[in-house]
Amino acid sequence: MSMTTSFLHRTKLILSTIQQVILDGLFPIRCLGCGKFDEWICVNCHSTLPILTDQHCPVCKKHVTLNGVVCPQCHETTKKSFDGVFVASYYHDKLLKKTIHYYKYHFVKNLSEPLALLLAQSIQNSTLATPDIIIPVPLHKRRYRWRGFNQASELAKKLDLQISVITDILIRVRYTVPQVKMKNKNKRQKNLNNAFIVKNKSQVIDKNILLIDDVMTTGATLKECAKALKTAGAKTVYCLVLARE
Ligand SMILES: [Zn+2]
Ligand SMILES: [Zn+2]
Repeated sequence: MSMTTSFLHRTKLILSTIQQVILDGLFPIRCLGCGKFDEWICVNCHSTLPILTDQHCPVCKKHVTLNGVVCPQCHETTKKSFDGVFVASYYHDKLLKKTIHYYKYHFVKNLSEPLALLLAQSIQNSTLATPDIIIPVPLHKRRYRWRGFNQASELAKKLDLQISVITDILIRVRYTVPQVKMKNKNKRQKNLNNAFIVKNKSQVIDKNILLIDDVMTTGATLKECAKALKTAGAKTVYCLVLARE
């Protein structure tokens, strides 16, 4: 490293430290539940996050099914997409809702840890089959630049199941209007048509895949991702999400 680059490097480092100190002073880290300093969610508040007791068919949302597998009546509509959706918690839980909001829209990347812990706790006592690979729902690169990280990827990595998390197979090729902004279900589906491609098919052929996302809204995103993976030859696609809106 030359004198100039090492000087620039050090200056940059000092400046970023100063910036962090100022930010911490202005916006100190406090528990989103009780306000206690220095943690985004303290142990006590984390323990209040509820684990969903009954899993339902993700299509009709009526039938209670094992691990959220698609019920026999709905099977025909999703056999080329997902096999089931396992939901960890309740979206209407105030703390969870707030945490997800801070994670996604206040860009608090560190919240991936307590949220992944919730995912891990939810599947701990389930009979969910161990997948071959884990794939997070991808973001379009434009959206990635805006947020600075992929919230689903961070959850998948922090989940730490000792199973490969693969982030470069399933690619989001179309920039789509964020699903939350679209109320009409048909429009949402249309918005997502062919939005995802599978880059390296040999890595998904005959594989049991666990697809991870933060929140399921209509399920259109998960369906499209699963469809792309199944078309590429995946054996099963199961989804795991924090909550269903
Ligand atoms: Zn707390
Ligand atoms: Zn059903």
